[in-house]
Amino acid sequence: MTAASTPTRLDLQKDRQLSIEWQDGRHSVYPVGYLRAMCPCAKCKQERAEAAAAPKRLTLKVLPGNHDGPLAAAAAELVGGYALRIDWTDGHGSGIYSFDYLRSIDPGPADPPAGTRR
Ligand SMILES: [Zn+2]
Repeated sequence: MTAASTPTRLDLQKDRQLSIEWQDGRHSVYPVGYLRAMCPCAKCKQERAEAAAAPKRLTLKVLPGNHDGPLAAAAAELVGGYALRIDWTDGHGSGIYSFDYLRSIDPGPADPPAGTRR
C-alpha cells in the first residue's frame, strides 16, 4: 500500500457517511448512498457495467430491500487490514471495499464545509 491508500483514520456514521483520512493528508467523505451504489462485489460491478454500456436506455432499478428507512450501513468491519466490509440495511453485504478501491472512488476534491464535522 502507498500513503495514498493507507487510511490513518476511518469514521463511519452509519446513516450518513464514511470519512477517511489518508496518510498523504487527503480527507475523503463518502455518502452512504454513494458507497452502496459503488459496491465492488461482482454482481453490482456487472450491473454498473451494463448501465454504462446502455446509458440512453431508461431503466428502473429496484434494489432488493427489506428496510423501511433510508439506506444506512447496518454493520461494518475491517478485513485483513486492507479493506472494509459493509453490511447495508437493504440486506446487501458482499462488497469488500479495499482501501485502494475507496481511494479510487473518492467522490471529489471538495472537503465538507468547516463545521460539519463533529
Ligand atoms: Zn454489491
